Amino acid sequence: MNVLVINCGSSSLKYQLINSESEQVLAKGLCERIGIDGRLVYQLAGNDKEITETPMPTHKEAIQLVLDALVNEKTGAVKDLKEIDAVGHRVVHGGEKFASSVVLTEDVLAQIEECNDLAPLHNPANLIGIRACKELMPNVPMVGVFDTAFHQTMPSTAYLYGLPYEYYEKYKVRRYGFHGTSHSFVSKRAAEYLNLDLNNSKIIVAHLGNGASISAVKDGKCVDTSMGLTPLEGLVMGTRCGDIDPAIMEFIAKKENLDIEGVMNVLNKKSGVEGMSGVSSDFRDLQAAYEEGNERAIAAVEVFAYRVAKYIGSYVAAMNGVDAIAFTAGIGENVYFVRRIIMKYLGYLGIEVDDEANVATRGIEGIISTADSKVPVAVIPTNEELAICRETVALI
Ligand code: AMP
Repeated sequence: MNVLVINCGSSSLKYQLINSESEQVLAKGLCERIGIDGRLVYQLAGNDKEITETPMPTHKEAIQLVLDALVNEKTGAVKDLKEIDAVGHRVVHGGEKFASSVVLTEDVLAQIEECNDLAPLHNPANLIGIRACKELMPNVPMVGVFDTAFHQTMPSTAYLYGLPYEYYEKYKVRRYGFHGTSHSFVSKRAAEYLNLDLNNSKIIVAHLGNGASISAVKDGKCVDTSMGLTPLEGLVMGTRCGDIDPAIMEFIAKKENLDIEGVMNVLNKKSGVEGMSGVSSDFRDLQAAYEEGNERAIAAVEVFAYRVAKYIGSYVAAMNGVDAIAFTAGIGENVYFVRRIIMKYLGYLGIEVDDEANVATRGIEGIISTADSKVPVAVIPTNEELAICRETVALI
């Protein structure tokens, strides 16, 4: 079966066509600057990227261009659109309505729309992509895979805020968590890779990318995660601040003469390791600055790693133990020196770092703790598109 996986943003759209039997990517790419001018990137497996500047006033034209590229006589991945058997859509927020993936019926789309308030930048864009796909491929089954769904198993002790309860009742203000597709995929794969019984295991997944979150997965189910109502809570990220004293918002608003949008913009886009270091949100730049002895870059990286280590400690407490720790996403998979700083805090768990393996493991699966380490630590590359493909196939 061939599954088209679509991740639709407000002005961009990423896609992959995956064969579900071989789990090979047949073609992938993205549409950028939708509604502005338009740029299609298309790459058939084994070939170079093709980049075409072409108008795409709406998501519908963008998806049409993707479909045309996929069936192109010379460089297409399939001969006919009939060879696309299903579409899996990433949907950011499913609120409390969706604890698993669903087939996208009109009724489901209406329910996703009801979650728009919770993710005003993302859900409307996801819905536009789904509707455009449905128009262009009316007979192809479509599935929605939610970033929040995996975390719906969190107990109320983990998801309730210390706020007036009526805000939860009236507005569903609670912790939801994000990157759920990745946390689910990586925890399952970590159990398999480390020969653990998923249904009887305690795994901590550290998804460290530009957006970063960490989760506690007990017996295959999420019991806590670091992101909250929005992806701003938790770890220090590329440009997001993560946990702070909420009173800072009023303090900064007064000092800098900012309104609430202005403060939120600072917390989301001007903070994190970029705001702290003044260098970059990208860990490649940060590593260079760190090695040159740039004090602010060193402070930013140390704060980033310390926050991860503190969360790991709190999730060991939440699960009353831990059987494995998995690092994933851009930083978790590639940046050995950050993993090393984090793991230095974990000696109390009996964790011993295999320095050579840690340095050598970049973007591939591998165990980075020693054979004597009481808790194995592994790098498990995430693959959200493949996870969406698998979910889609399972549902149809
Ligand atoms: P993500 O959001 O998962 O794509 O992760 C982005 C972050 O991972 C950025 O800070 C990148 O600098 C970092 N990253 C990704 N690939 C590498 C790499 N090969 N070497 C060092 N850092 C990387």
